[in-house]
Amino acid sequence: MSEESFRIAVFPGDGIGNEITEPCVELMQRAVAVSGGRSLTFEWLEAGADTYKKTGTALPEASVAAARAADAILLAAMGDPAIRYPDGTEIVPQIDMRFILDLYAGVRPVRTIPGVRTPLADPRTADIDFVLVRESTEGLFAPEGRGEVTAERGTDSMIVTRKGVDRVSRFSFELARSRKRQGHRGKLELIDKANVFPSLAFMREVFDAAASDYPDIETGHAYVDARAMQMIQRPWEFDVMVTENMFGDILSDLGAGLMGGLGFAPSADIGDDHAVFQPCHGTAPDIAGKGLANPTAMFLSGAMLLEWLGERRGEAGTRAAGRLIREAVDDAFRGGDLVTCDIGGDAGTATVAKAVSDALEARLG
Ligand code: NAD
Repeated sequence: MSEESFRIAVFPGDGIGNEITEPCVELMQRAVAVSGGRSLTFEWLEAGADTYKKTGTALPEASVAAARAADAILLAAMGDPAIRYPDGTEIVPQIDMRFILDLYAGVRPVRTIPGVRTPLADPRTADIDFVLVRESTEGLFAPEGRGEVTAERGTDSMIVTRKGVDRVSRFSFELARSRKRQGHRGKLELIDKANVFPSLAFMREVFDAAASDYPDIETGHAYVDARAMQMIQRPWEFDVMVTENMFGDILSDLGAGLMGGLGFAPSADIGDDHAVFQPCHGTAPDIAGKGLANPTAMFLSGAMLLEWLGERRGEAGTRAAGRLIREAVDDAFRGGDLVTCDIGGDAGTATVAKAVSDALEARLG
């Protein structure tokens, strides 16, 4: 492989992760080849529940070092409810990695794919296209806020820092700005609960201070409970929203539901130096090994990786490869005949992979 290649660290992980990674890598290679992007070298790395079972370590040092050295990281899914640490908690290297690599911006695009059945009947559902940004290194998930449990009481703490809010706010403003250039509204809203929690009133103050540097972006605030309802009532109206870690965790699954389910929801966890791209779903032990996994969220995560990498490194061909995968996914589903197993159809991993790959080839004429 040429020295010019981009190095992509790949974590297939556990369960269905092992089934959706290979077709995604193939699709990315092909998209890059036909878009004139720089070639990709994939380095397959160990981490996850199976790795923990085999070695006693869920996220080996060597894997972290290789991920750090890579240009981008692609991760499928990790975890197995049957494999746990001695304290009973599950191994979650995919979450540990956010803290290790300081991936503070959890980007969760919520966009309906034409032809995919979604739970809302309103025809405007077809226009849903917004992005949730989940602060991913503090809030209710902050490692230093690990809770305490006594015989009578359990407590957890919400940690909100000026640095944490400022950087994720600025990331979100830049995202809103870049979407505005692509024809979106250019609006960023902070989703909080500033009426109740002092930490979130502080978050609002820091967000508002950052907003003054982005006069071209419309800003707003909403309470998380009200916004959850509005995400069902009028989700086509939103553009970019940024929120605390736990709220983002919940709202992003709501967003995945709006798209048809976890099998369609891609994500990125982005920091200043590294980024991990992965589907929102887990390892689906109930269907693992049966060829039923929907690989769409993984494909769209691969597309996000290429668009991010292309943008960051000023490589138009790499960016175009990401767009091509997204368009091929849309083309494959558009007719409504391709219905995946997770939404009541019978199209498994191989069928979807072939349909998307055929759609990509068809786009090339
Ligand atoms: P899950 O997302 O794995 O599965 C939830 C349900 O959705 C299951 O019925 C599953 O079959 C279905 N599903 C999920 N993805 C699918 C796909 N691509 N195609 C078809 N159906 C799909 O969530 P869970 O059952 O709560 O967790 C299972 C394991 O995954 C646990 O060990 C959990 O810790 C882990 N997990 C990992 C990640 C990650 O790596 N990012 C995220 C969530 C859960």
